[in-house]
Amino acid sequence: MIKNEVKTTCSYCGVGCGIIVKKDANNKVFVEGDKDHPVNKGMLCSKGMNLHYVANDVSDRILYPEMRWSRSHPRERVSWDDALDRAASVFKSIIKKHGPDSVGFYVSGQSLTEEYYIANKLTKGFIGTNNIDTNSRLCMSSAVVGYKKTFGEDSVPISYADIELADTFLITGANPAWCHPILFRRLEKHKEENPNVKIIVVDPRKTDTANFADIHLQLLPGTDVVLYNAIARCLYKRGLIDEDFIKNHTDGFQEYKDLIFKTSLKQASKICGVSEKDIQKAADTIGVSKGFISMWAMGLNQSVVGTDKNVSLLNLSLITGQVGKPGCGPFSLTGQPNAMGGREVGGMANLLAVHKDLMNEEHRREVAQFWGVDKINPKPGLTATEMFDALESGKLKAVWIACTNPLVSLPNLNRIEKAMENAKFVVVQDISHKSDTVAFADLVLPAAGWLEKEGTMTNSERRISYLPKEIDAPGEARPDVEIFCDFAKRMGFRGFNFNSSSEIYDEYAAMTKGTNIDVSYLNYDRLKNEGTFQWPVPEHRHEGTPRLFQNKKFYTASGNAKFNLPSSIENNSVLPNEDFPLILTTGRVRDQWHTMTKTGKVSRLKTHYPTPVLEIHPVDAYLYKIKNGDITEITSENGVVRVRASVTENIKKGVVFLPMHWGKQLQSNLNRANNLTNTHVDPVSKEPDFKFTRVSVSKHKKK
Ligand code: SF4
Repeated sequence: MIKNEVKTTCSYCGVGCGIIVKKDANNKVFVEGDKDHPVNKGMLCSKGMNLHYVANDVSDRILYPEMRWSRSHPRERVSWDDALDRAASVFKSIIKKHGPDSVGFYVSGQSLTEEYYIANKLTKGFIGTNNIDTNSRLCMSSAVVGYKKTFGEDSVPISYADIELADTFLITGANPAWCHPILFRRLEKHKEENPNVKIIVVDPRKTDTANFADIHLQLLPGTDVVLYNAIARCLYKRGLIDEDFIKNHTDGFQEYKDLIFKTSLKQASKICGVSEKDIQKAADTIGVSKGFISMWAMGLNQSVVGTDKNVSLLNLSLITGQVGKPGCGPFSLTGQPNAMGGREVGGMANLLAVHKDLMNEEHRREVAQFWGVDKINPKPGLTATEMFDALESGKLKAVWIACTNPLVSLPNLNRIEKAMENAKFVVVQDISHKSDTVAFADLVLPAAGWLEKEGTMTNSERRISYLPKEIDAPGEARPDVEIFCDFAKRMGFRGFNFNSSSEIYDEYAAMTKGTNIDVSYLNYDRLKNEGTFQWPVPEHRHEGTPRLFQNKKFYTASGNAKFNLPSSIENNSVLPNEDFPLILTTGRVRDQWHTMTKTGKVSRLKTHYPTPVLEIHPVDAYLYKIKNGDITEITSENGVVRVRASVTENIKKGVVFLPMHWGKQLQSNLNRANNLTNTHVDPVSKEPDFKFTRVSVSKHKKK
C-alpha cells in the first residue's frame, strides 16, 4: 500500500526529468514519470525508470565515518565528532604551515545547488583559496567559455520547448539518443509529426543519433572548427546570412568573414574527411531554416580546442541571426543533473558566484562584502586536472573529494593514482563503497543520497527544481551541506549557522539580486507550490524566463553578440604517428551513468552493454589482424587496456572508441578507458582532451 508520494527530479543527466516517487508502508520507493512535468511529460529513460532500485538497495552504502591515523593502518569506524575534528585539525595545520593554496576541494555536477554554494563560500570566502573545482570541468567548461565570449555571460539562451518550434537541428559532438534520451524522444516525436524537420549530425561515429539524421557528416576527430567555418563560408556565398542581425546586433563580423574565406571548400573537405557536397547540403539546409537549433555536448567540449570549437559553432547562430527568437539558438547539453546549478554559484576554480568574474576586482569586492570577509583571493584556483598534478608534485597537500569518482573519470589514471598516494591527507565524502576513490581516503564521510536530503538543481535549460527529502539516509550518513557547515564551524568560520537548506537557498537567491541570473524572488515555498522555474525570475510574480535575448541585447559591453575567431584552425591534439597510429575517442553507453556506482547496481541495466568493448573499423581490424570478439590490447603513451573487439563500420577508419564507465571495483584496472587518455587540456577552458588520444591496437597474446 502506498503511504505517500512526492514530486522530484531525476538524479542522472542534465535533461532534468520530473519523477513521482511513491513510498510504501515499508519505506520502499517506486518511481514513475511525472506527466505534468514540462520536460518529460511522463516519459523516463532506462536509467530514470530504474532509479528506485538504486534508492532501495543500500548494500553498498557508506554507513559511518571511517578514519585511518596512518597509511600503514586500515581505516576504522569513528564518530562524526572525531572525524570532523580531525579534518579541521589537519586542514588548519596544513594551511598554517603552507598557506590556503595548499588545500583543495573537488566537487561534482551531481551536488545540489546549496551544497555547491556552501562548498564555494567555505573555500573562496573563508579558507581564502580558489582551489575548488568540479567534475563538470570534464564536461562543459568549454561551453561556459564559448557562451561568455559570444554573449558576454554563461547563458543558455533557449528551452526544450523551442525544439517543437524549430525545423533544423545541428547535433554535433553529442549522442542524445543514448545520453539525453528523453530530450531525443522529444526531437524524434517532433520529426515524426513534421516531415519538413531536418536533422544534421556531426560525429565520427554512426551513433543511434546519426542513424536518425537526414545528413550525417562523419568528420575526422578534431576538425570541427574547419567544418563549421566551411558551412559559414557556404552560407555567405549563397547569400543565406542575416545581414540585418549581423549589422545591428553583432561585433567582429569582418574578421570572421576574412577567416572563413582563408580555407576553400575543397581544402575543408579534405581536412575534415567530409565531402564538399555534404558540407554544402548542410549549409543549404541551415540557410533556409526558419528555426535553427544547434545542440552539442562532450564531443565538442572535451578537446584541446574545445573553446575554439564552441565559438565557431556559436558563430553559425550569429551569421544566420538565429538567436533570441522562438525555435532557434545554440543549446549546449549538460551531462550532469546540476552542472548548470554549479555554474550559477561559481562552482569552478576560475568563477565567482552569480556569474561574477574572479578576474574583476569590483566583482571580488562585491562577493567579499556579501559574505562579510575581507577579500577574495585574486589568484585563479587549480582546475580539475591541475589539482591532481599539484597533488603529484606535492604543491597541494590535502584534497577533499565530494560526490565524484576521479579514480575512474579523470584522464591518465595511473598518474591520478600516484597523485592520490602522494597526497598528505585525502577526505572522500560519498555515498558508496563502490567508488574507486574511497580506497585512497584517509577519512571517509558518509553522505546522504537522492531522496535522502532536500535541495535544488538546475537542468540544461536553466530550469530550477526543488528536490524533497523523502526517506532517511542509511546508517549515520548526513546531507553534504550539514557536513560542510559542521566542518566550517570547526575551522572557526562564522556564516555557516544555517538551520535548513532553505536558508542556504535564500542566501544564494539574495546574492543574485540585480544580476542576469536573478532568482531573488524565488524560494522553497514557491518551488514546492508552483513547480519549476527557469532563471532569471527577477520580479515577485514573475513566471521565469524560457528564452533569453529576445530584445537582442546581449551581456557584452557593447550589447552586441560577438563573432570570436578560433585561436587556430589547426587541431592541436597530439597527432597519431607510426607507434600510435589510431585515434581513441571515449564516451558513454545508453544504460550506464558515469562510473557506474549507481547504475552498476541494477542488473537489468547491464544487459544492453554488459562489458566494455573496443569499436574498430573493419579496415583497421584487418590491418592489425583483429577479429570480432578477439581480446585486444590497446596501448597509449600513458597505459594499457585489454578488452574484446567489436569490429564495426559504425566507426570511422583510423578511429577507435571505448566507453568510459568501467573502473577497478567493477571489473579490473585493465578495463579503464582512462588508463589511456592523455592529460592535455584546452588552454582556456582547461577541459581535458578525452576525444583524441593516439593509441596502437593489437590482438592480445596470452602468456
Ligand atoms: Fe533521467 Fe536523463 Fe533519463 Fe531523464 S533522460 S530520465 S533526466 S537520465
